[in-house]
Amino acid sequence: MNTPSRADDQDGQIGGVHIKYLHHCPRQLWLYARGYRPEQRSDLVAFGETVDETTFTRRRDIDLGEAKIDWVTTGAVVHETKSSRAPAPAHDAQVRHYCLLLERRGVSVRGGVVHYPLIRRTTDVTWNADARNQAEQSESDARMVIATRTAPDRLERPACRGCSHLDYCWGD
Ligand code: SF4
Repeated sequence: MNTPSRADDQDGQIGGVHIKYLHHCPRQLWLYARGYRPEQRSDLVAFGETVDETTFTRRRDIDLGEAKIDWVTTGAVVHETKSSRAPAPAHDAQVRHYCLLLERRGVSVRGGVVHYPLIRRTTDVTWNADARNQAEQSESDARMVIATRTAPDRLERPACRGCSHLDYCWGD
């Protein structure tokens, strides 16, 4: 088993994936920041990428370096596509983080939308002062989790279903 020992994200950049993992499981964020990324070869991730690539054809990724936004429409409205069938607070938090990153680059952000093509649903993500505070707090929380010397505790086992770190955390 590959035991992570240090944070790989030495530049301190917090991207959307960091925020998503923070809200799903701080331990997952801690592992990810140290380069432990089994999701790169996970079937679930491959499935997600396929959904992502085939759902919307007329769009352009926005690469901010630390984060890659699915696409931004006039306004600016940030769009994020999920292969999940269950909307989750972590997805909204990820979009808020993208709004924050865009705003810091001088973009006047209007809000965001999370797309769930498998269940034909979208959820709107509000962008206002309160959302900005939440995004800044999440960014700060992510930095704190990454900086801890030992891995945060595991979630309860049922909450780990589908996680690509099951082998590391539970020896599956
Ligand atoms: S297996 Fe569970 S505890 Fe481990 S990173 Fe995934 S969600 Fe967190």
